[in-house]
Amino acid sequence: MQLLEGKIVSQAVKDDLRHKTNQLKNQHKKIPHLAAILIGTDGASETYVASKIKNCEEIGFKSSMYRFKNDVDETTVISKIEELNSDDDVDGILVQLPLPKHFSEEKIVNLIDPRKDVDGFHPMSVGKMVQGLPTFLPATPYGIMLMLEHYKIETAGKHAVVIGRSNIVGRPMSILLSQQANPGNCTVTLCHSRTKNLKEICLQADIIVAALGKVSFLTADMVKENAVVIDVGITRVEDVTKKSGFRIMGDVDFHAVAPRCSYITPVPGGVGLMTIAALLKNTYNASLQKNNS
Ligand code: NAD
Repeated sequence: MQLLEGKIVSQAVKDDLRHKTNQLKNQHKKIPHLAAILIGTDGASETYVASKIKNCEEIGFKSSMYRFKNDVDETTVISKIEELNSDDDVDGILVQLPLPKHFSEEKIVNLIDPRKDVDGFHPMSVGKMVQGLPTFLPATPYGIMLMLEHYKIETAGKHAVVIGRSNIVGRPMSILLSQQANPGNCTVTLCHSRTKNLKEICLQADIIVAALGKVSFLTADMVKENAVVIDVGITRVEDVTKKSGFRIMGDVDFHAVAPRCSYITPVPGGVGLMTIAALLKNTYNASLQKNNS
């Protein structure tokens, strides 16, 4: 069994971006700028946005963050997005999801200029992804593809089972794995809460991507010998021994599943780090496209 280490792969991506950003600086060219919008005080969302901003700083990107209280009205947020859309210095815009209940996520996401849609959630980006055209790919599935590529994992002709059909992880993951590309060319089964015989389906899988948000859901009896297992799950579980009061758990029963696998991602230290690396890559590409056009 080999660990797919998000730490190593994301560091390689970030080193490359830092190097390229330094080159831009030395040439007195514009450096990439990511603008993040955070609404409310959800602990996990705060951590994610803080980490994205910190990573921008580490590699020399410019970043800005706009915070709004939970009860902010939609018009205020819409005005901010419109302002960022027309701000020439801003290359990428992300609105941290989930949004408070009184917001329509669809409406907010659709407002972002597709040229700055570094989260890859805009229908224009999704449509291009489905057609296999160059676009911003959603950060988590994109990060997983970068990881498969880095470790040179053979995917062509393999049976990949994706558990979870959300617009941000499961569904785009199923599309990318089935694309005529490398990595890709998988035969994909997309499973969800209404899937019957999930265990039997998983047992046929060469690659399993678990993205459902249920702690230790994927157990050893659901995994074929030598399978590749990618754990996307991030759930905070109370742990009084930790300073934070919680620890992060994935969707895979890691200790029981790992010995059966050829490759497996740890949680933490796996997909989460790749998600940020992929977002940074999208931001760099957004900047390059905008400023070269
Ligand atoms: P979601 O709640 O939007 O979707 C969950 C999906 O799982 C649904 O499509 C549902 O049909 C499916 N599901 C639920 N119960 C199931 C069951 N018993 N059997 C089969 N399918 C079932 O979640 P999401 O936004 O896709 O996130 C999934 C997990 O990934 C969460 O833990 C989330 O925190 C995590 N996540 C991690 C990253 C990262 O960077 N590592 C990024 C995004 C999300």
